[in-house]
Amino acid sequence: MATFLFDKIVFGPVTSRRLGVSLGINLLPADRKVCNFNCVYCECGLTGADDTGMSLPAREEVRELLRVALEKMAADGVLPDAITFAGNGEPTLHPDFPGVIDDTIALRDKLAPAASVAVLSNATTINRPDIREALMRCDRKMLKLDSAIEDTVKSHNQPAGSYSIAETIRLLKLFRGDLTIQTLFVRGEFRGRVIDNTTVRELKAWLDALREIAPREVMIYTIHRDTPEGGKLCKVPADELQRIASMAEALGIETQVSP
Ligand code: SF4
Repeated sequence: MATFLFDKIVFGPVTSRRLGVSLGINLLPADRKVCNFNCVYCECGLTGADDTGMSLPAREEVRELLRVALEKMAADGVLPDAITFAGNGEPTLHPDFPGVIDDTIALRDKLAPAASVAVLSNATTINRPDIREALMRCDRKMLKLDSAIEDTVKSHNQPAGSYSIAETIRLLKLFRGDLTIQTLFVRGEFRGRVIDNTTVRELKAWLDALREIAPREVMIYTIHRDTPEGGKLCKVPADELQRIASMAEALGIETQVSP
């Protein structure tokens, strides 16, 4: 099985439907995934237990690499639509995440004022006020909610340590609608467990959570690349993703579907 890791701190630009021309920032090591989730479908592979020898980029290094990349894009006449924190795991686990966000916003204001600063996060650290406030300073925060049912989160996302989806939903409400929820729908089997967050019960709980959180948008997608060994997971068909999207739209929430 091939897994997909970003080998640079600043990467791209890449073009995507949801973000346009996006310059990526990976705050995690180039050679391994670092995450406090262990999603059964993760394109980076399963989360390892061994953190020895792990080195994260320093705040200053990230700032300098971003400055150089933005200056080069300006010289080439193609500035990004977005500067996006993604990469090999959960970006908010970087110990200087709030400071890195401040540096990025300052560089964006100076060198690419039309670009949005975007973060893809699993939302596990929004209980920390400094992380939550840093995310709130970003233009686009895309926060994961694959299921609103505790047992499903345990089997799909396999969180490390104590985790409560009810508490996560309470914290997501603190964003007062200024957020995007990202949900990956998948079916199949993983290490003997049934994987399916598309059942009637799942969708009812998910829609109830969306009603409470009232995000400005929901990104709905399914698996695209190889998934970790140990499972037989299937894409959810495009027409079914569209049907799920129409249920969120009936709540007055915009949707983006990536089949
Ligand atoms: S939250 Fe993202 S990086 Fe972490 S395990 Fe899940 S898919 Fe992978």
